Amino acid sequence: MHGRTHERQIVADPAAAQSAARWRARDLEVLWHPCTQMREHPDILPLVPIERGDGAWLLGYDGRRYLDGVSSWWTNLHGHAEPRIAEAIARQARTLEQVILAGFSHAPAVELAERLLALAPRQAGRAPLARVFYADNGSAGVEVALKMAFHWFRNRGEPGRTKFVALENGYHGETLGALAVGDIPLYRRIYAPLLAEALFAPSPDAYLAAPGESAEACALRAADALADLFDRHPGEICALILEPRLQCAGGMRMHHPAYLRRVRELCDANGVFLIADEIATGFGRTGTMFACEQATLAGPGGQEGCVAPDLLCLSKGLTGGFLPLAAVLTTQSIYDGFLDDSRERAFLHSHSYTGNPLACAAALASLDIFGSDDVLVRNRATAARMAALAAPLAGHRHVADVRQAGMVVAFELTRDGARDTPFDAASRVGLHAYRAALARGVLLRPLGDVLYWMPPYCIDEAQLQLLASVTAEAIEEATACA
Ligand SMILES: *Cc1c(COP(=O)(O)O)cnc(C)c1O
Repeated sequence: MHGRTHERQIVADPAAAQSAARWRARDLEVLWHPCTQMREHPDILPLVPIERGDGAWLLGYDGRRYLDGVSSWWTNLHGHAEPRIAEAIARQARTLEQVILAGFSHAPAVELAERLLALAPRQAGRAPLARVFYADNGSAGVEVALKMAFHWFRNRGEPGRTKFVALENGYHGETLGALAVGDIPLYRRIYAPLLAEALFAPSPDAYLAAPGESAEACALRAADALADLFDRHPGEICALILEPRLQCAGGMRMHHPAYLRRVRELCDANGVFLIADEIATGFGRTGTMFACEQATLAGPGGQEGCVAPDLLCLSKGLTGGFLPLAAVLTTQSIYDGFLDDSRERAFLHSHSYTGNPLACAAALASLDIFGSDDVLVRNRATAARMAALAAPLAGHRHVADVRQAGMVVAFELTRDGARDTPFDAASRVGLHAYRAALARGVLLRPLGDVLYWMPPYCIDEAQLQLLASVTAEAIEEATACA
């Protein structure tokens, strides 16, 4: 299987190559691509026109196939063109494609809300998440959560609570509100003059642990710094936003779940809402349905439970990776804070396509697959295979860290395999690794010099082996001349 794949990549089909070249040329005449310095296309950065998707494969017009090692920006769950989701969308499209969600309702929006609330993390002794507000992408979902938190305190007569706390190295999207609580300089710095000022607390990132310090001790040290930050701003903060367990865009950095437990306590003690951004971590990506579940917490009566946020942001995998949709889950108490005779006290936020029926139908079909295919259980076996295949790479002379959270494995590349010897950014090791992997039929999209695996859940043994062997070759090739 593995050998055949390589063979397939080498045999060039001239007609297919021509077809790909034509699409590439037409694209470069009219499109402006996301997250791309367009000047690098197509020579420094290849541009690959894709004709079809099939499971973990992307099939190019060039006649080649590419293993999607990053689930197409972390969206795909059960494979590309998954027939059950495709069918659910088609059925819904023939029934009701879209209807205004103000003053009107439809079954997919209601059913999806019911099911998301039933699935949401539950904290013993705490009122459950009870309401769902839809938006159409992750950034828009974050905007909704931030605005809701701020507005709730206004309605309550606490207009002084205007600040948000976010974590260093966090990421919450690209719109101005979401960028304001993000801390990735590459995306943020240029727009800084436009952004509302947020307060940043140290990241609990275990990669930043002091020599000899455990991941848990590192997390608790970050929580102590957060406590100090809260102390310095009494009555000024409305919410804290974080990515539980895994800071994805920040380089797949992982932290101990003890951090989330402490954060929950600190937010409660300071009357601050906790916003969990599970846009990337949700729907099984880190091993549990939601990452919050890994921060276990016994209830007052000793009952089992986990940390629950006041607001939970979901998107990316929500529709199985088929359509853009976001959901913000909130408590009844937040919802109740907007009930009033005045329209101004209502949450008037809206998007034209709020709760689009096609997207909701896709999400329902994706949730069905979790049940029918026992996805979380199957993923445990896949994650164990990923761990085994990643382990040999830990010894590579340029690999400073191999870390895993469920269906995510990350490899941190440095000059001599120590944490404090990063590659010179100008040597663009990540880009070289990207090209090396792509030439071998695997889509890896490093974050800086961090390579990672975040494959569709349907990835099989042969594909995992291809992913691992190509990653090893890409690391070798990219670091050889750096
Ligand atoms: C991707 C992402 C977002 C933004 O979602 P978009 O749909 O790209 O706007 C927000 N938060 C996290 C944690 C993400 O990974």
